[in-house]
Amino acid sequence: LLAGCNEATTATRAELKVSGPTMGTHYAVKVVGDYPGGEPQLQHDVEQILQRIDHQLSTYKPDSELSRFNQHKATTPVTISQDLADVLIEGLRVGKMTGGAMDITVGPLVNLWGFGPDKRPTKIPSDAEIAAARAKTGLDKLHVEIGSETATVRKDIPDLYVDLSTLGEGFAADKIADLLDGRGIKNYMVEIGGEVMAKGVNPKGECWRIGINKPTDDPAGLNQELEEIAHLCGKVGLATSGNYRNFYEKGGKKYGHTINPITGYPAEQDILSATIIAPDCTTADGYATSFMALGSEKARELKKRVPEIEYFIIYTDSVGNYKTEHSEGFTQYLANKGR
Ligand code: ADP
Ligand code: MG
Repeated sequence: LLAGCNEATTATRAELKVSGPTMGTHYAVKVVGDYPGGEPQLQHDVEQILQRIDHQLSTYKPDSELSRFNQHKATTPVTISQDLADVLIEGLRVGKMTGGAMDITVGPLVNLWGFGPDKRPTKIPSDAEIAAARAKTGLDKLHVEIGSETATVRKDIPDLYVDLSTLGEGFAADKIADLLDGRGIKNYMVEIGGEVMAKGVNPKGECWRIGINKPTDDPAGLNQELEEIAHLCGKVGLATSGNYRNFYEKGGKKYGHTINPITGYPAEQDILSATIIAPDCTTADGYATSFMALGSEKARELKKRVPEIEYFIIYTDSVGNYKTEHSEGFTQYLANKGR
């Protein structure tokens, strides 16, 4: 895999770069060499995909395809786009692999805790409120069917509410990668809100370098101090989840945006940040959130069952020490190998 990186050409090649706001975050796409129509066309094509996906998956847009399904308070099937069906199927697949730690039906709890479109609660939700929201969740209550012409989705209970926030950025990165592959682009890097899909090499002919931030409490995201740099060659997706950007404090306690679907409370785990490398970014995105929800011990177990992922985690050990750890297969992505 790394051989390609070592055959670096010394000449720096031209790079096209486009970026902008999207889905409440920021995107950046870099293409080495040419793109038909140049930067303006690249920007146009990328933004068209981003807008389409936002219109399919957003829970912040009341008229998105997903919001319309969430508002459909009935158990009859709803016809959906192939894209929405694909993300739902991947969400269900990863959810099942994680024993429900990653749960795309966790929306009612996300909203109750103030990490969705609803505003922050003024007080910590009561056990009764949590139980009521939990009763509206469950991966087994969501069914997707792909027919020859159309796809449909249906819920067993009218109140089921799907939240694809954890997969949306990764999925959008994958779709932009599909666009670039379709245009015959061999070397590119797509980044959406920190989730990355990279292929080939950068303009210097080296692997793409992606920084893994130190997880310092920093809602504004201004702290860019790096813990590590991942070197991506070949075609891989990388996603990082952490609770250090999106959290709030109440009564001296910190509540982060990863919910443990089993307890109904924000997951209080030892992992501060989880970076996952997988063949595609949707998968990486899903497992990164899973790691946050599971904690390091169960995450290590999960990795044994899921050979397609490699991880790099930052966590606090039982005596409060700051630690980093990565799977054996992640070593190939680190510059200083063998650590
Ligand atoms: P980030 O990359 O910003 O850390 P994630 O990709 O981990 O974010 O997604 C976090 C979002 O996913 C939350 O804001 C919430 O909407 C949703 N979410 C929270 N807990 C879960 C869970 N256990 N399973 C699936 N989605 C979740
Ligand atoms: Mg995620």
